[in-house]
Amino acid sequence: MQYALVNGVRREAFRGGRGACPVCGAAAIPKCGPRILHHWAHAGRRDCDPWWENETNWHRTWKNLFPPECREVSHVAPDGEIHRADIKTPTGIVIEVQHSAMTDAERQSREAFYGNLVWVIDGRSFRDNFDIYHLLPDPSSAIAQDIVWEKASRPMQGAANGLFFRLSEGREDYPELDISKATLRFGVIHGIHEIRTEVEQAYRGHHQYDWVRPRRTWLDAACPVYIDFGEEYLVRLEIYDESNLPCIRYVTKRKFLHDVMLETNAKTIATRFYPIDRRSPAARASLEGA
Ligand SMILES: [Zn+2]
Repeated sequence: MQYALVNGVRREAFRGGRGACPVCGAAAIPKCGPRILHHWAHAGRRDCDPWWENETNWHRTWKNLFPPECREVSHVAPDGEIHRADIKTPTGIVIEVQHSAMTDAERQSREAFYGNLVWVIDGRSFRDNFDIYHLLPDPSSAIAQDIVWEKASRPMQGAANGLFFRLSEGREDYPELDISKATLRFGVIHGIHEIRTEVEQAYRGHHQYDWVRPRRTWLDAACPVYIDFGEEYLVRLEIYDESNLPCIRYVTKRKFLHDVMLETNAKTIATRFYPIDRRSPAARASLEGA
């Protein structure tokens, strides 16, 4: 951990220091070697916070993007259960930065415990299994209302370039069926090149993607999930529209860090939009290839 209590004051580890774990009160000793991330460790093996994972440079880098008082904040439930959140903002949003895989049960427990929670997961180890495909128009835009996209995946490279049906055509061709975005899976197939200008104009960072051998628990998460691939953009997992199409949305780290300090609900982070000036390299490649 980054902080222990030294004479009742939160301090970072320092050579010769003697601290106490803010969660369990046990003695904490400083680890300040030249080749390690300076941190505090429990003096003995203990049952402290079972959710705590060993801190990596990646964890520490994330925590250090926030003011010290937002890092490693103890959170106590009404029944006395106590855990240490990686980051808690002044507006009450908890950010858990997660490097290792996690079980469904633990994910659910943490979501229930913190409630107003957002996940940031370390995606660097599975970047090669994560394809990001063509642009999608903002789901609330006019152009999106009539369109049902064909799900793209690694074996379906045609769809990866952007194929869609039109709801209006489905309804015209099959008036006897009660066709909606949720049911339209047939009809005339169109290509994204037909509507490229409209899609570009309504682009707010959404893309199709395929996660090969996904860590399923993150697809089922009740709280928002952002993947950090070590790039300028975070990748937020979303469901696009009533067709249930999985999609991602690029959110700049800068935008995320700004919003999480101001928004009061984890779910409203990055929902207020300004035009994205600089498209990501993946977005540009996707546009050019379409
Ligand atoms: Zn402890």
